[in-house]
Amino acid sequence: MPDIIQLLPESVANQIAAGEVIQRPASVIKELVENAIDAGGKSINIIIKDSGRTLIQVIDDGTGMSGTDARMAFERHATSKIRKADDLFAIRSMGFRGEALASVAAIAEVTVQTRRVEDELGTELIIRATEVISQEPIACSHGTSISVKNIFFNVPARRKFLKSDSYEFRLIISEIQRVALAFPEVEFKLQHNNTEIFQLTPCNHKQRIVQIFGKAINQQLIDIKTDTTLVRINGFIGKPGNAKKNQGEQFFFVNNRYMRHPYFHKALMNAYNRLLPSDAVPSYFIWLEVDPGNIDVNIHPTKTEIKFEDEQSIWQILNATTKEALGKFNVAPSLDFNTEAAIEIPVLTKDTQIRIPSINVNPNFNPFDSDYEKPVNKQRTVDYFKSSNLSNWESLYSGFEKGNTDNPENKVEKLFTENADLPATANNLIQLKGKYILSPVRSGLMVIDQKRAHERILYENYMKILEGTIHVTQQTLFPQVIELNATDHALLMECLNIINQTGFDIRGFGNNSIVVNGCPAGIPDANPKELVERMLEEMHHQPSQQTEKTREYLAGLLSKASAIPYGKQLSAEEIHDFIDKLFACSNHNFSPDGKPVISIISIEELEKRMK
Ligand code: ADP
Ligand code: MG
Repeated sequence: MPDIIQLLPESVANQIAAGEVIQRPASVIKELVENAIDAGGKSINIIIKDSGRTLIQVIDDGTGMSGTDARMAFERHATSKIRKADDLFAIRSMGFRGEALASVAAIAEVTVQTRRVEDELGTELIIRATEVISQEPIACSHGTSISVKNIFFNVPARRKFLKSDSYEFRLIISEIQRVALAFPEVEFKLQHNNTEIFQLTPCNHKQRIVQIFGKAINQQLIDIKTDTTLVRINGFIGKPGNAKKNQGEQFFFVNNRYMRHPYFHKALMNAYNRLLPSDAVPSYFIWLEVDPGNIDVNIHPTKTEIKFEDEQSIWQILNATTKEALGKFNVAPSLDFNTEAAIEIPVLTKDTQIRIPSINVNPNFNPFDSDYEKPVNKQRTVDYFKSSNLSNWESLYSGFEKGNTDNPENKVEKLFTENADLPATANNLIQLKGKYILSPVRSGLMVIDQKRAHERILYENYMKILEGTIHVTQQTLFPQVIELNATDHALLMECLNIINQTGFDIRGFGNNSIVVNGCPAGIPDANPKELVERMLEEMHHQPSQQTEKTREYLAGLLSKASAIPYGKQLSAEEIHDFIDKLFACSNHNFSPDGKPVISIISIEELEKRMK
């Protein structure tokens, strides 16, 4: 049998290697921007088209390269940053593996224009899928400009693997945010499809956070700082009250390099212990400085995973520093959130007037009068929705129910009359822990997840609005300007048209701000800011892929954002109303994201338990 092993052609080997470093447009941007920083760039201009799919260009005012170096830069393992193995443990630069440019050139069409300050003429080099097309002297400003066109043009499988434009754009923005936070003294500009997205002027760490995440964050940050022989820590942590379930604003940097570090993340979370609701994560921006000899950056091609020699000690230092900062900010570490069930005992003083509780009796009440309207309870329902700041289901559904010949009332009646031994009323419905609604049914005990049920109800309604089956009227509001960070702004702008179809009137207001002029009439008391924030939080939680612009996606988002949160106590009337609407839905068994809404504990199951 002949020998069968052959060396791969260079272009194929390069493509394979590229896969590790370059997965998508955001990785190209990361590599190019890091190179610009390593070259001493003070002003970095990033221009992209179609979320980087057609063009990524990074222009810097750094050292530039000679003609020979520009050519060398595209060879694999060609770097000016380290010379010998030992240098790996003294790394101060962002790059050192000498792989990025070779990888980029393997999967795209690359044009470099570069000139050193001392040279009169620069050089222009064009490379396409590893092959040098041309190199010529040109007149250009000093520094380097690298354009990467048609990423993955020669690797269709990879190109297909890219997600929607808005998804890719979001990743690009978060990649730029990381470098921009690490180097606040550097100016960054970003232009997408000929529109300026942001310009971050040189400043300090805190100002950079504000430039990126908006002015409101300024009041939410607590300084943390410590200086030990092992590590220097500097940065800001979010006040516990501002913690969100959003995973986006947690940043660790080591020697100005962004890193993920689940173990150090735990050091922080542990310090916040009991100051936060269980699903909330505080924001933090923490810069660590350590001796480069004590870390290993070279364990992963993207260099965001970093090994520390003395991880446990740094954990302790980080944990103690955070606790101390929270203590200074005066949040008692013994705050307890599990007091929901505790009884509030009013403090009596000398002058406290004791009021005897009174009971209001409606003298006109006649339980045998079937026409009798129950004004007291009706009123309560309405008040509940007014005070809850959430959607007013009644008005939201009025149009919808009128058009629905299958009267939801009948469905509920049917549900209960199916159970021969149950009266046809909702008296058998009880709410458990602000989370579940329980009711006996013929086969056992029916458990309804209240929030999921509400999501389903709202979802079907929003779908009807988006399909034009029912019309939503708009309520104009006193215009409210909301400042967002660049990612959130970009996210919202992507689906603004379709959001506005549901009755919102939201417009861009320059500088990452939006203005809300109107809300769907069904949400009279909704606080637009809260609603937009919750919607964005949901967007972060369900990173949409191809579906961004679909009605289903948006209806899902809106329903999640406006559903009543767990923990709301509902009156008997409200529960009844709720069940009516749930059973009027075309699919009441599942929430919009496919989770069960209803579960029945069978009599057999109960009997088994009782044995
Ligand atoms: P690395 O950054 O790991 O050294 P790269 O492939 O990213 O590897 O870059 C190769 C070399 O090209 C760098 O070491 C540097 O000398 C040079 N280079 C890349 N980008 C620039 C730039 N924007 N300005 C000046 N030199 C650059
Ligand atoms: Mg590099």
